[in-house]
Amino acid sequence: MALSHSLGFPRIGRDRELKKALEAYWQGELDESGLRAVGRELRAAHWQLQKDAGLDLLPVGDFAWYDQVLGHSLTFGVIPQRFRPDTGTPTLQTLFAMARGGADAQTHEQCCGAAHAQPQVAEELTKWFDTNYHYLVPEFTADQRFQLSWEQLFEEVDEAHALGHKVKPVLIGPLTFLWLGKAKGEAFDKLELLERLLPIYGEILGRLAAQGVEWVQIDEPILGLDLPQDWKNAFERAYHLLQHAPLKKLVASYFSGLEDNLGLAVCLPVDGLHVDLVRAPEQLPLLLDRLPSYKVLSLGVVNGRNVWRCDLDQALGQLQQAQVRFGDNLWVAGSCSLLHSPVDLAREEQLDNELKGWLAFAVQKCAEIATLSMALNDPQSAPVQAALAESRAVQASRASSPRIHKAAVQARLNAIIPADSQRLSPFAERIEKQRARLQLPAFPTTTIGSFPQTPAIRQARQAFRQGRLSQAQYTEAMQAEIRHAVTLQEQLGLDVLVHGEAERNDMVEYFAEQLDGYAFTRFGWVQSYGSRCVKPAIIYGDLSRPQPMTVAWTRYAQGLTQTVMKGMLTGPVTMLMWSFPREDLSRELQARQLALAIRDEVQDLEAAGIQIVQIDEAAFREGLPLRQAQWAAYLDWATEAFRLCASGVRDETQIHTHMCYSEFNDVIESIAAMDADVITIETSRSDMQLLQAFEAFDYPSDIGPGVYDIHSPRVPETQEMVALMRKAARRIPAERLWVNPDCGLKTRAWRETEAALVNMVAAARQLRRELA
Ligand code: GLN
Ligand code: ZN
Repeated sequence: MALSHSLGFPRIGRDRELKKALEAYWQGELDESGLRAVGRELRAAHWQLQKDAGLDLLPVGDFAWYDQVLGHSLTFGVIPQRFRPDTGTPTLQTLFAMARGGADAQTHEQCCGAAHAQPQVAEELTKWFDTNYHYLVPEFTADQRFQLSWEQLFEEVDEAHALGHKVKPVLIGPLTFLWLGKAKGEAFDKLELLERLLPIYGEILGRLAAQGVEWVQIDEPILGLDLPQDWKNAFERAYHLLQHAPLKKLVASYFSGLEDNLGLAVCLPVDGLHVDLVRAPEQLPLLLDRLPSYKVLSLGVVNGRNVWRCDLDQALGQLQQAQVRFGDNLWVAGSCSLLHSPVDLAREEQLDNELKGWLAFAVQKCAEIATLSMALNDPQSAPVQAALAESRAVQASRASSPRIHKAAVQARLNAIIPADSQRLSPFAERIEKQRARLQLPAFPTTTIGSFPQTPAIRQARQAFRQGRLSQAQYTEAMQAEIRHAVTLQEQLGLDVLVHGEAERNDMVEYFAEQLDGYAFTRFGWVQSYGSRCVKPAIIYGDLSRPQPMTVAWTRYAQGLTQTVMKGMLTGPVTMLMWSFPREDLSRELQARQLALAIRDEVQDLEAAGIQIVQIDEAAFREGLPLRQAQWAAYLDWATEAFRLCASGVRDETQIHTHMCYSEFNDVIESIAAMDADVITIETSRSDMQLLQAFEAFDYPSDIGPGVYDIHSPRVPETQEMVALMRKAARRIPAERLWVNPDCGLKTRAWRETEAALVNMVAAARQLRRELA
């Protein structure tokens, strides 16, 4: 019997019940037992959903109050000194303080960074591999001790057993856990902690076995990364030591292929291996050849990272190949945890039936997994034959649907010539013309685009959506916001103005809603971190722009002032990365379609008299593939897509781009190849250290290194910003420097925004006197 299982199920709830309960608990509106009850109900509901869908083995340990990595930190007693409770025993308060900062950390922020004794600053959040899920980074010290400190996993196993479920607990493996953490304090090698950590795993496995668990899933997604040799070596050592635990171990890799780690993965002294065949189908033949057939091979054939129905014929073909050799030792699964897909398609009543028929969320994916295992065990059964026929019909309808395949878009793509992705003249010539036209002072000041999204703005948008505000009333309300932003910027003396983005809910959704080829769900939420969820738009068909998207607002804003107004767009790579993409078309081609749509907008802005257009690429770097060997290809098409959207304008039109992060060393050449005239980046938090990349490579164009951190309400002093810019000017010629905050201001309040910008403009004026 080929078993079916899931590597994990979304925990947030189909109505985001967990989000609502967490936020009520943090507000003091729900007590701990109320919160725990919501967690218990969600777990029970999710197990039942998976069982009803037909899965044989249900995951436990995929539930987390905030984040599963944080849950592991508590389990192993990896609790930084500043959070350690007096009693020695961590509580939910400890967990939430590590995630969100303690009460004293919040005061700390308000009082502007005065030195407190060990404020409870939250642990760092960072992206989980190449997903949009964020985990809390474990903090290790050289003298780190590990101790089993949190009972949640064992309690949940009991809970599932009491409900009569056959479960498979899920743990993050010791090497992945260490890899994800950060060494704090004196420098040391995290791998040195392995020997100390392993006994805790031994203890956990022993206790699970005593609870009657037969199989445990140990996630080691770092097996899909380029690992240093000492980390590779450590795998064998670690699993050798865990070998004697009295239960069976399934080591799970996902998100990318095993590649050079395949040899070590198949030889680990464990009972089974899970691989992601959606991301890396090419590894199947080698696996069939190399994995001993007395072990379990779990094939992840249903995509846990996207929203499309599985092509059952294709998946079954892969599974049957493996069945020949593995027989009953073949298991069927999702490619990765279903954490990364929305919960239940059944709720999307407003989607038309055709489109809905193409989609599958977590609940539907479980049914697909179960169907595939049934197809292996009993291929001729009626339900299997019906499911296969339905799947074929779905694939056929998508392959030929005129809603998906648009001749006009394809004709345009085919007509692209190299010159389309090339500005007319090189930067050195363009910038002369731009300077002559724009007449900006040295150290020009600007902002990144958005101004505070006040409750009034959100209420107006909601009222408009609900029909309580007419189109005309809504337009007037947004225009009033624009007037306010423009007047204020003029008073402040900023050199390049923005309209403030009041009309935008989100930098991707705002554009996606105006493009053909995008669909939207009502409940398609995916956890991003803690109680935060995102609802990515779905690219289902060839993309095009039926009409201008931003021109009216931008033209209105420019009409209010003599000062130059910067148009504001989201770039093709960011649009793609923050959407659910198609699987029937390469990401490269989807980016190119987006690029053409945005290119039209750039040209329309130019035609409307807008002299500067900023194209944000906040997600450019996060698109980097997990394996370095694939970087070059990605960077090629990503850079090309940006250039395609930005190159349709005259030399005099200045193109800006913005990237709000810090790690540029890896990608600086590609950033330069994007050929923007000005780039604004985040640098203030790292004290301008980031500029090293821009200096070492001799980055050719203008740069606005963010001079203050917009993530904090703190108002920066003029002299701090002057000092930062002086540092920047030591690395980059003064005539190429701009002065701006490090990201958009939409999450800030007006008061601190105004105060910060007053100081920023004063800083620029001082710099002009000193350095220009
Ligand atoms: N223009 C956007 C804004 O100011 C940029 C946001 C971002 O980079 N994340 O909000
Ligand atoms: Zn930003």
